[in-house]
Amino acid sequence: MDLGLKGRKAIVCAASKGLGRGCAEALAREGVDVTICARGADALDATAKAIAAAGAKVTPVVCDVTTEAGRKALLAACPSPDILITNAGGPPPGDFKDFTLDDWRKAVEGNMITPIALIHATVYGMMERGFGRIVNITSQTVKAPIASLELSNGARLGLTGAVAVLARKAAARNVTINGILPGPFATDRLITNNQKAAEARKVPVSVIEAERVAAIPAGRYGSPAEFGAVVSFLCSVHAGYITGQNLLIDGGGFPAAV
Ligand code: NAP
Repeated sequence: MDLGLKGRKAIVCAASKGLGRGCAEALAREGVDVTICARGADALDATAKAIAAAGAKVTPVVCDVTTEAGRKALLAACPSPDILITNAGGPPPGDFKDFTLDDWRKAVEGNMITPIALIHATVYGMMERGFGRIVNITSQTVKAPIASLELSNGARLGLTGAVAVLARKAAARNVTINGILPGPFATDRLITNNQKAAEARKVPVSVIEAERVAAIPAGRYGSPAEFGAVVSFLCSVHAGYITGQNLLIDGGGFPAAV
């Protein structure tokens, strides 16, 4: 299927690795010019080169997207995107008892305020031009909270509520806003979380991995490539009637398998 995106411009946040990279690669394959960011220059440059090698136009921006200066740099590189994929590192796991107010402020800043700021800066231009696709990478925690991820549960639900009305307001101008809610995907983030869980329970990481995979009806972790392909479809010309949705992509893990 031709997604109708050739020549469009996209900002893909936090895209040197993992789910962001999967989205940038998939959009670039459709002929989209992609502006990607991350804090680490080496991995970002390597990703930009790999995507450009396949013939796409890629602009890497080294920045922390959760800061105002970072977002300014990103928007300066691509001031009028047709597509915005919001993303950032997720908050750390832990327990409510131990989180400080600063932990909460950081989580809200990174996973709620940052996407809101980027959406605010881009959505009205999209509406004027009559085309726009915004996809917020959130988490399955939006549908069902995860015990060790209370910071994530809170910040991502905040974002989901914050854009729910805007998603409807923008739809008449062919601008959509959707959330995509990953379950377990094979990325650095997942490996790190598994390691932390193994340390907390004093078991080998292979035990945690076996338990997690056993709980996924698909019997495996998702891949960043398949994640990117789904996001690309949500960004396509064919998806203008899908807005305000929060789409789980979790191998069937929710609701709990029978
Ligand atoms: P990942 O493999 O660790 O990749 C994270 C990417 O984001 C890297 O390119 C990283 O590069 C970049 N990044 C992180 N913080 C950034 C910042 N402040 N500014 C700019 N770039 C930043 O993580 P992932 O698994 O793709 O996860 C992406 C998001 O999806 C996270 O919010 C995560 O919580 C959420 N999620 C993931 C899963 C999963 O199973 N993987 C499930 C549910 C939700 P630098 O470190 O160099 O900046």
